[in-house]
Amino acid sequence: MYGTLRDDLAGRLVEVREAGLYKTEHVMTTPQGAHVDVEGRELLNLCANNYLGLASHPAMVEAAHEALDRWGYGMASVRFICGTQALHRELEQRLSSFLGTDDTILFSSCYDANGGLFEALFDEQDAVISDQLNHASIIDGIRLCKARRLRYANGDMDELEARLEESADARYRLIATDGVFSMDGYLAQLDSICDLAERHNALVMVDDSHAVGVLGPGGRGTPEHHDVVERIDILTGTLGKAIGGASGGYVAGRREIVELLRQRARPYLFSNSIPPPVAGASLRALELIESSHELRDRLRENTAHFRSRMTELGFDVLPGEHPIVPVMVGDEVAAARLSAKLVELGVYAVSFSFPVVPRGTARIRTQMSAAHTREDLDFAVDRFAEAREAVAV
Ligand SMILES: *Cc1c(COP(=O)(O)O)cnc(C)c1O
Repeated sequence: MYGTLRDDLAGRLVEVREAGLYKTEHVMTTPQGAHVDVEGRELLNLCANNYLGLASHPAMVEAAHEALDRWGYGMASVRFICGTQALHRELEQRLSSFLGTDDTILFSSCYDANGGLFEALFDEQDAVISDQLNHASIIDGIRLCKARRLRYANGDMDELEARLEESADARYRLIATDGVFSMDGYLAQLDSICDLAERHNALVMVDDSHAVGVLGPGGRGTPEHHDVVERIDILTGTLGKAIGGASGGYVAGRREIVELLRQRARPYLFSNSIPPPVAGASLRALELIESSHELRDRLRENTAHFRSRMTELGFDVLPGEHPIVPVMVGDEVAAARLSAKLVELGVYAVSFSFPVVPRGTARIRTQMSAAHTREDLDFAVDRFAEAREAVAV
């Protein structure tokens, strides 16, 4: 039987390659960090979500070792059978106090958090109104739910209001948005979104994966940045970016929402608890974030420095303050050549093009980290200038 499927799959793989969409995984032989060895070459890494540099931070490695020794390696259970240690409850409580929510429920990933959320809370009587550029996990989570689906153009508050008016007959309406849109580094206008939600009696859900630990005076993310913490009903996020970069996600929010998710969210009920070393190190990450501004300050300074030097050199950098710094190229082929040249020159920076971003808006997406030094960033800027000369874009 496999023969026919095999031929079909081989054909589809050729199509992926011919469309230039084939993803090759480059094998690293070092821990994640500012400098990594990739296939035998040392590169300055500008493409990790390692915003605070915690992925291999000595304090994190130590905390993971300690948790491993104290709590063991794995749980071999979902949470409600025999997979809840005091450590898991402590992490949930710590996230709630950090984020300023009633309660928090952990998932294996933010993908699973978003995958389980909508279906558990809403049905055909309800409507979910989603920003067009929301993360794939929000889109998939909404598809699993029977609620009516409405979309608005990225950040378009007039269109959001029109969608709210159109869905006035629904029992409940939820506005769902990323806190930060990952291809542009743009922030959702949470203050306007909350105003509209209040005016139209809707709920608000924010996926803050790219902002938790990063934005806001205390690193609490976009709700803190926009001063709307109490006005957000549901906040999802990942432990796989700034908060240590391992894995795990959560839904934080109103007490009854979290309580119902423990009863009904399928990825929570049917998938394993997060491993103790990850839970223990995540607690350490929150301690580091809450006890000091240092990493956030360094990240902010690095971001400002790189943005201003690149702009001085005439690169078209999308405006903003987020450590996602997209360097716009436009043409798909030129962006790919620029990225290849950068890698050749020792800078790991990846190009994104259609269909991930609109046609003609190809870009090199760089991401700053607190683990970068000023010298690292100056090196990156110089290599950008050199690569631009070499490939004439
Ligand atoms: C990275 C990301 C996710 C996925 O997080 P995981 O924990 O890796 O599954 C979900 N939503 C957004 C907005 C993200 O940026």
